Amino acid sequence: MFDMIIGGEAATSADRFEVRNPATGEVVDTAPNASAADLDRAVAAAREAAPGWAGMSDDARGAACRAVAETITASAEELAHLLTREQGKPLNGFGSRWELGGAAAWAGYTAGLSLPPEVLQDTNEGRIELARKPLGVVGSITPWNFPVMIAVWHYLPALRAGNTVVLKPSPLTPLSTLRMVELVNEVLPAGVLNAVTGNDQGFNVGAAMATHAGIDKIVFTGSTATGRHVMRSAAENLKRLTLELGGNDAGIVLPDADPEKIAEGLFWGAFLNNGQTCAAMKRLYVHDDIHDAVCEALVAYARGVQVGNGLDETSILGPVQNRMQFDKVSHLVADAVGRGKVLLGGAPGEGLFFPPTIVADLANGDALVDEEQFGPALPIIRYSDIDAAVAAANDSQNGLGGSIWSSDIDAAKAVGRRLECGSVWINRHGAIQPNAPFGGVKQSGFGVQFAEEGLKENTSVQVMFS
Ligand code: NDP
Repeated sequence: MFDMIIGGEAATSADRFEVRNPATGEVVDTAPNASAADLDRAVAAAREAAPGWAGMSDDARGAACRAVAETITASAEELAHLLTREQGKPLNGFGSRWELGGAAAWAGYTAGLSLPPEVLQDTNEGRIELARKPLGVVGSITPWNFPVMIAVWHYLPALRAGNTVVLKPSPLTPLSTLRMVELVNEVLPAGVLNAVTGNDQGFNVGAAMATHAGIDKIVFTGSTATGRHVMRSAAENLKRLTLELGGNDAGIVLPDADPEKIAEGLFWGAFLNNGQTCAAMKRLYVHDDIHDAVCEALVAYARGVQVGNGLDETSILGPVQNRMQFDKVSHLVADAVGRGKVLLGGAPGEGLFFPPTIVADLANGDALVDEEQFGPALPIIRYSDIDAAVAAANDSQNGLGGSIWSSDIDAAKAVGRRLECGSVWINRHGAIQPNAPFGGVKQSGFGVQFAEEGLKENTSVQVMFS
């Protein structure tokens, strides 16, 4: 039985919603539908726990966060199976076990960070110190693509910086989050980390969090459209925001790249998590000179990737997570099929399975290029002029990441600097690390996560003159 966690206790509800396995359509289990009163209790529990948690020594908080990382490691196999059953991603490959490994690594690294006071000046004229203080209660709203890892990205830095947290997972994938929060509550003081769930039939928990006067900051990962709603709602009490929203990342292959060498990286840059990744490569610009060789090598690699039920140890990609996303991908691919040349896939499979799809001879202006597909379909655009390719790559409201592929690193870096995005990768796409800040520009959001920069986003600055 999966319950919410409020003030360190299981909080149940008679009103529950079903969570289904996208590979089979079977019900995995049910989760509680929170009422407005449940959310109020969760916020009150977080507020009550806040002074004690913020007042602990920095070392003690760091140790508690390390215990969270150890708990995730110890429960990784259980959580990975649950994650596969509700999300659909395979246990293996870049699937659930990989996600759990990432979650533990991020938690462990972030536990070891700290933000000691800085002395800005110490002269005869006086001393100026800068201290970073927690904001209070952080509300975390997470999506369905990497439910466990993104939850950790949200709550661990918030806790490490001395805040308490109310976390709301996506109604499509709440179970692994509820279980993780239950487990880590064994090593945290009551009320420090709370989780509430709901499926929006009636009371919308996420929207209510964004307007809640008892929440001081929202960290949100999801669509740009919902990010706008969160931002409007947050104005009421001037909540701080970190918004990690959609992307439409471009990759650009320069004429000197080696098609065989880059094929695997191109594939995983685009198809990691079935393309349901904010910073996946969602359009690929390839120079005319090597266009056909790159397409051939990419398709050859893709043909070897096994798609199937995530619980099957041999699967490397699973189904699309939900019907809304499946329909969106189907619609965009159907449109692209009429405009470009299908090199692989091109038609929906059984249930929510959609085979890896690659469509060449597309251009900016085609829907699969312009819109975020967030699924296993990659458009390829041929180019001959690098300035035109950079302009086409930048012709997007999004600006999360981008990549350049070349045998000449310096030339690649020079092109990369011209991309309008928060992360640039050379000969890879989508790499993230806990010691490197990650965030978008333009309408991909603002603020960063990870590393000291991300930790600072969970604090306010207090300057003291003496
Ligand atoms: P949403 O952005 O709609 O939902 C993400 C989270 O926000 C969910 O927990 C959702 O909960 C919550 N939410 C919805 N409405 C509000 C609101 N008004 N205020 C606060 N929180 C709210 O994503 P979808 O699942 O609908 O996916 C739509 C598109 O978003 C995808 O096609 C993809 O393009 C993009 N996306 C991007 C992700 C990323 O990593 N950047 C991750 C997932 C999706 P609830 O459903 O209960 O309202």
